[in-house]
Amino acid sequence: MKYYSTNKQSSLVSFKEATIKGQAPDKGLYFPETIPHINAAFVNSIGEFSNEEIAYKVISPYVGSEISEEKLRQIVSETVNFPIPLVKVNDNISSLELFHGPTLAFKDIGARFMSRCLGYFVQGDSRKVTVLVATSGDTGGAVANGFYDVEGVEVVILYPSGKVSPVQEKQLTALGKNIHALEVLGTFDDCQQMVKQAFADKELTEKKFLTSANSINVARWLPQQFYYFFAYKQWADKNNPPVISVPSGNFGNICAGILAMQSGLPVKHFIAACNVNDILSDYLQTQELKPKQAVATLSNAMDVGNPSNFVRILEIFNHKFPELKNKLSSYSVTDDETIATIKEVYDQHNYLLDPHGAVGYLALKCYLADHPGENGIFLETAHPVKFPGAVEKITGKTIEAPDSVQAIMRSEKMSTQIEAEYEALKDFLMA
Ligand SMILES: *Cc1c(COP(=O)(O)O)cnc(C)c1O
Repeated sequence: MKYYSTNKQSSLVSFKEATIKGQAPDKGLYFPETIPHINAAFVNSIGEFSNEEIAYKVISPYVGSEISEEKLRQIVSETVNFPIPLVKVNDNISSLELFHGPTLAFKDIGARFMSRCLGYFVQGDSRKVTVLVATSGDTGGAVANGFYDVEGVEVVILYPSGKVSPVQEKQLTALGKNIHALEVLGTFDDCQQMVKQAFADKELTEKKFLTSANSINVARWLPQQFYYFFAYKQWADKNNPPVISVPSGNFGNICAGILAMQSGLPVKHFIAACNVNDILSDYLQTQELKPKQAVATLSNAMDVGNPSNFVRILEIFNHKFPELKNKLSSYSVTDDETIATIKEVYDQHNYLLDPHGAVGYLALKCYLADHPGENGIFLETAHPVKFPGAVEKITGKTIEAPDSVQAIMRSEKMSTQIEAEYEALKDFLMA
């Protein structure tokens, strides 16, 4: 498979090059030249296949012969080696729980796949590759865990001191080995600015082989299709495919779902469930995408005012607006509605949502109210224990942390504090 840049000003690349480069030189996003078709017989008998087999079948056309079958099967089985259950919440709504991975958020899937592919591609290179990433919380943990102990790869994560939750901080700082946490005395925007400057610094990039692990990397984006197939495998009413609601920020997750649908996965409709940082609703009315300055909400991993993966959605639909509008809706959910939803679902259905999942649930509920006879799935993208402040206050229930979290909370924090200045980062990287 070859990948082109959505800006069409860079040359075609292989899966390996797209994985190593991340973003195209013309600042576009890489996109597969063709969308593979999964045969109907496979989809119809999906219940007979293991998750490993399904994941291999989905990803292999995108990788081609660039990774051997045996190695790719190993990578895939390590990527999906935890449960991804579909849990019924009420008569017409089920939750796809994506939070049973090592850092309790769906980003584990993409990070585990990407880290293993990158590790494979740089094997035997004399230069070590350094993955440089800024995080406001979830990304850093998933990347740290995914890349932990991967040979030939060093990871440097910048996070804003005092501005990530205690669980998130430990997930970044307790690992050690090839994972280096830089605790920046500043904001997330400072961290992101410093990382951008590093990528633009010729002196640094000549000395260090730098790459990024953000969600625009194809090796993080494409494996997110897996769990849409796992959801369908567990969906009882195969004659009436699900409406799927995806809590959305940068739109990487929903875009992977739409890609899966275009490859042949039965899905009735997609809902982009957004918090107040919603720009899609306007777009669906006006066909004009107007980025906004992001505002802070309870579902903070979705506080994005200019979703970078939106251009891939346009690409999937060949820029045909009527087709896009036919398959995709958008809802905007306020913090007050998020709180009320967490409380209602806990009281009435004894199911504990995190703020991101709550946005997904409410958007789906609203859509289904207007579409009688349809049923749906929302993606529960993080474990409620990652957001204990909000969830415990609303439900009055203390959330029990899974064993893995209890263990990490007992381990020691290892971080290097630096000032929020580019020179401090550069000194660290050059040393
Ligand atoms: C990153 C994240 C999202 C948003 O996913 P996108 O792919 O950026 O749309 C939603 N929920 C949680 C918990 C996240 O960490």
